[in-house]
Order: sequence, then C-alpha cells, then structure tokens
Amino acid sequence: MNKLKILHLYPDLLNLYGDRGNIVCLVKRLEWRGMEAEVVKYTRNNTEPPNLSDADIVFIGGGSDRDQKIACRSLLKCKRELKNYVEDGGVTVAVCGGYQLLGKYYRLGDETIEGLDILDIYTERGENRLVGNVVLKSDIVPGKIVGFENHGGRTYIGSHTPLGKVIYGFGNDDSSGYEGVAYKNVIATYLHGPLLPKNPLLCDYVLTNAIKRKDPNFSCLPPLDDAMESAANKYIADRFKYKWRT
Ligand code: GLN
Repeated sequence: MNKLKILHLYPDLLNLYGDRGNIVCLVKRLEWRGMEAEVVKYTRNNTEPPNLSDADIVFIGGGSDRDQKIACRSLLKCKRELKNYVEDGGVTVAVCGGYQLLGKYYRLGDETIEGLDILDIYTERGENRLVGNVVLKSDIVPGKIVGFENHGGRTYIGSHTPLGKVIYGFGNDDSSGYEGVAYKNVIATYLHGPLLPKNPLLCDYVLTNAIKRKDPNFSCLPPLDDAMESAANKYIADRFKYKWRT
C-alpha cells in the first residue's frame, strides 16, 4: 500500500491540549506495523486551498473562539470540496473547535460564526465552560473512550448518531447525555487530551477506515502490544467509576 496521506488543517491555530499528539499517534501506529504516512500541514500561511483529492485522513483540532474564527473563515472557501470529501467516505477526525466548525454555525451571543454545514448540527455558547475529564461508552470500539473537555459551546446534533454515551463528564450540551458525532467516516468530538493516544482502539478504527478506503480488499490491522495504553485508558475510566452514570 502507498503511504497514507494525513492532512492536518491549521496546526498553527487549532492545537489545544496536545491535539497534535493525535497525528503522532496515527503515524506511529502505522510505522509500528511497517506502514508509512505523510503528514501535510495546512496553515494560515497557505494561500491555495487544501488538496483533498489524495487525502486519506483529515485532522482538525480545537482552539480559542478567536483562532477558530480565522480557520473557519478560510475553510469556507473550500466548503464544497470538504463536504464532497466527507460524503465520499473521506476519513476525518475533528476535535472541539474543529467539531463545532463542521456544523451549521457557532453562535456566541450576538455574533455567529458560519460553519461548513457538513454535519446537520449547530453550537451555541453557554454561560459557563464545560471543563473536565470525560468517559464515554461507544458502539465504535470496545471498552471506554476517555478524554478531556473544555468548551463554552453546546452542540446540538439533531438526528445524527453520537460518538458515544457520556458516563462521566458533560458531553455535547451538558444535558442530552451524548458526546460527539459519528457520521460516515467522520469522528467529531469534544475530547482533547489528546484523543487517539488515550484511545488506541479508536486510532486503529480511524486507520482501518482510511486504509480500507484506499484498498477495499484490506481486512484488518495486525494487533499491537497495547498493554500500557490500555492500562492508562482503564486507569482514567476507573478513576471516575464512583460517579459513572449507568
Ligand atoms: N472555542 C470553542 C469553545 O469554547 C472550542 C474550544 C476548544 O476547542 N477547546 O466552545
């Protein structure tokens, strides 16, 4: 198989809480299996739109409202290309601010940031920030997904399928009990921390979808020794067990 191309959108603007670690994790878990990845960073200095035609994974992280606004304004220029990429099964991981900007809009009081309208969701800023560790149960991977959230926005996902059910933490809007969105090959979530190193099975789910899209005959990734990663994931999940919502 050729190298997987990972397109990292705005690492210069949207990189809170080590979101960049998600890229490192994707690359390393491929390398450990003898596969290669090429990471293309698309920053605010790029003048041409990002090239999605040969992208295998698009990653977009989270940032402050200010930086998010700059990134979003620029991405609106290639809204159609991004939507087509997603509809065509393009693998995408969008974290926090990146998650919000896939929706219709992010309303902050009097101001509204227009989103890419790729997901039928919208976000409104609440009075306080939702901050802390999160534990989810998801149909996508066995065990628990863990992470850290810090967002002022509340995201309303309508009829979309959530990434998971919140068993500890706030999630999309602090009341629905759900977190993130899983749509086609898109994983959109509030979980920073970063997401993929803390949840290696989710990382492999993303990689598998990307490889399958390139090579439909591909079946599964060889397993890795994840004893350490699994122990870390379980440690965080169990730390909040006494407060889990069942
Ligand atoms: N600026 C957005 C919010 O506060 C996203 C923050 C983030 O990416 N952590 O809701």
